[in-house]
Amino acid sequence: MKKREIFLPFSPPLIGEEEIKEVVATLRTDWITTGPKTKDFEKQFASYVQGPGALALNSCTAALHTALVTLGIGAGDEVISTPMTFVASANVVEYAGARPVLVDVCSDTLNIDPAKVEAAITPKTRAIIPVHYSGHPADMDPIHALAAKHKLTVIEDAAHAVPAKYKGRFIGSGPNPVAFSFYATKNMTTAEGGMLTASPEFLEQARVVSLHGMNRDAWKRYQPGGNWKYDVVTPGFKYNMTDIQASLGLWQLKKLQSFQARRREIVAQYQRAFGDSPALEIPVLRPEVEHAWHLYVLRLRAEALKIERDQFIEELTARKIGTSVHFIPVHLHSFYRNKYGLKERDFPVTFDNYLRMLSLPLNPRMTDQDVADVIEAVLDIVTQNRR
Ligand SMILES: *Cc1c(COP(=O)(O)O)cnc(C)c1O
Repeated sequence: MKKREIFLPFSPPLIGEEEIKEVVATLRTDWITTGPKTKDFEKQFASYVQGPGALALNSCTAALHTALVTLGIGAGDEVISTPMTFVASANVVEYAGARPVLVDVCSDTLNIDPAKVEAAITPKTRAIIPVHYSGHPADMDPIHALAAKHKLTVIEDAAHAVPAKYKGRFIGSGPNPVAFSFYATKNMTTAEGGMLTASPEFLEQARVVSLHGMNRDAWKRYQPGGNWKYDVVTPGFKYNMTDIQASLGLWQLKKLQSFQARRREIVAQYQRAFGDSPALEIPVLRPEVEHAWHLYVLRLRAEALKIERDQFIEELTARKIGTSVHFIPVHLHSFYRNKYGLKERDFPVTFDNYLRMLSLPLNPRMTDQDVADVIEAVLDIVTQNRR
């Protein structure tokens, strides 16, 4: 095969002139941190996901942490999540002083397995953090049913899931806390940023927790006629989003439909190209969901290939194709392994799939030639290493 000349990056951001102009316009005003643009972004985002309200923060990690603290979750409490995630989903539980309890995933979607959640519930359990892995919504009905039965809160890690739907409803449209990420590689970006959706009552408290524990935010205080007085009701965090970030977010949100249309086109081409290969397992799409297609995760079939995942990635790199692995499971990181005495095979579905997975480039900046190059490279490696 003919080699690409230029390396194809795994997930570069797609920033247009509109975003650049909006950021510059914000910089030319007298208000660059949390203010009118952040408020507008919250409103537009809530409206997009048809949610009850939204609180813009400086990361998804901040949104998850804020949700836990707002619920009063802390020492002595347990929070259930999955090892097949970015480690932030578990780290936030540690921040709160609570114990993350990991539960293995379903082998098709790699989302938390509701059948295994109930066995992990104890009298100390306070919340469940399902992760909508790769943008495919977790199976929420049984999770909400278990939460109702045991009086737990469901805090969704929706870092990959904007926009996604479960049974016709947007992720983020319910009253429970849902955390989104606008990190540079996500489906829409503010460089760093996050959003927490929840009921207005929950968000009112979360807003205080997320900003020093102050009962009125700065923008209101510095408005004409604003009052300098405030009270601190809890030692809150410094997690607010700036108007510079919101300037990016407002335009990214307007473009999200077109970004998603391009992601779906690329996925369709990948699925057609790889679906018949005995060496490759392609991502699934359960009928009740709309997938956000944040990631395209291929799984290698060891019985049909002479090489393993790590070498497959090296072969792709040699063909100038960027890849990644999502994720190094939480329980393999030394902190969690040591603190909780976890073994690789404690979560066999997660571990076995981790060993054979890789993520291919999937982003709206890709040209048809880029997509063709990825397909050609993957199929070439398969052909040369067939068992
Ligand atoms: C990216 C990511 C996060 C963290 O998002 P930040 O905005 O960087 O804090 C959390 N969970 C998952 C599953 C992620 O992929």
